[in-house]
Amino acid sequence: MQQFTDTIAAIATPLGSGGVAVIRISGCDAISCTDALFQPVRGSRPSAMQEYTCSYGYFINQEKEILDDVVLTVFRNPHSYTGEDTVEISCHGGRFLSQKILRTVLANPTVRLAEAGEFTKRAFLNGKLSLTQAEAVADLISASGENAVRYARTLRDGATFRKISEFSNLILEMLSDLAVWADYPDEDIPGVDSKTLGAKMQQLLDDMKQLMSSYDYGRILREGLHTVIAGKPNVGKSTLFNVLSGCERSIVTEIAGTTRDVVEEQIRLGDVILRLSDTAGVHQTADKVEQIGVERSLSSLEQADLVLAVFDMSAPLSEEDHILLEKLPAEKTIVVYNKSDQSSADFSQNALFHFSPVETVEISAKHQDNITALQNAVERFAARHATPAEDGMIANERQRVCLKLALDAVQEALDALTMGLAFDAVTVSLDAAADALLQLTGERVTDKVVDTVFQRFCVGK
Ligand code: GDP
Repeated sequence: MQQFTDTIAAIATPLGSGGVAVIRISGCDAISCTDALFQPVRGSRPSAMQEYTCSYGYFINQEKEILDDVVLTVFRNPHSYTGEDTVEISCHGGRFLSQKILRTVLANPTVRLAEAGEFTKRAFLNGKLSLTQAEAVADLISASGENAVRYARTLRDGATFRKISEFSNLILEMLSDLAVWADYPDEDIPGVDSKTLGAKMQQLLDDMKQLMSSYDYGRILREGLHTVIAGKPNVGKSTLFNVLSGCERSIVTEIAGTTRDVVEEQIRLGDVILRLSDTAGVHQTADKVEQIGVERSLSSLEQADLVLAVFDMSAPLSEEDHILLEKLPAEKTIVVYNKSDQSSADFSQNALFHFSPVETVEISAKHQDNITALQNAVERFAARHATPAEDGMIANERQRVCLKLALDAVQEALDALTMGLAFDAVTVSLDAAADALLQLTGERVTDKVVDTVFQRFCVGK
């Protein structure tokens, strides 16, 4: 356990009016510094309180004026969030009162204001959390949507840490086999069996790749499903965009080709978060500016997690519709037949017979008919693509880079083994893999990386 000489304090609840605000103090003087500031209605002063107990009383300033009646809770090292002595003061909500109490605590020369994420940083440095768990705390705070919360909880509970530890242990096992053999070549120790070692490495590679594939789930849950609304001009893309986002942001006009660039909005559809882009229509045009828009639309189709391809039911499919159909990625496309209120006899869904989208929905964006069916289709798609994996997930770019380094290093080790190179070469690569995994969990990590991780946090967490 790392010993910090200074005690830190901050308001842990959001600033603003609310029922209750919490001021958190952590460090060696956390409990003693409140002795002179808290008058219990019954019972003892904070220093004499048992751990995990709370006491009702008055918070007073250095001039003995009562500032508020509060509940004070005591946690003792190491049984607290940070692993240090910690006091939490729950006072009446409101910016003014909580700041006054915080200022009174900070008047003590051994206490200073906590930096962003410093409580969680101390929890990490004191070994209460791995780096992946600490990162999940930040994700939990910003999680929007049930799946995002479930995902952050999975990480917070240490599933990723356990998975990575499994990988590390396996690598250490292989390294120790190789070391015994290299260090005592003359002893009667059974030699390293390349075939078994190779099979172990291959299994490890497969498991690492499986974990790597969870990165996309995490991204979708954190940022939302990157959804593109595509279609030729005038089919009702902007109208649909506005219906889904509940506001008038895209320009809706009768003139074909008015949405020239990509408009983006983060919206919630049921329990799914969408990063919704309305694109320029995909069509042939001589206009240079429009051409750029069309090209962007096509490239956004490739990058999207989900495409809502809009077709107009009031007219037969045109050549432009067919050009779009050729570009659509069927496995991530929901076909939306729009203008169902004006459905034309000439329109035939059979025209799409050779194209198999994920689902097909008929709506009227203008009259907001059947939007729930579209919502359900999107939710079904999201459920298949963004379900939290219970046994660990890669949550961010930092973790992804570390895992990629480890993966490449194990692959190198396997290649060296297969090519019949000296076991030294295998050992060097496996060492590099183990190191990358320790960086991932934060067991071997630079101060700079730690600082970057905790800068994402709010003050008070
Ligand atoms: P975009 O070019 O694909 O973005 O199309 P817009 O959203 O600008 O819509 C083009 C025209 O179609 C506008 O006049 C809309 O009011 C109209 N429109 C959109 N959705 C519907 C619908 O469901 N029914 C009918 N009748 N008209 C619609």
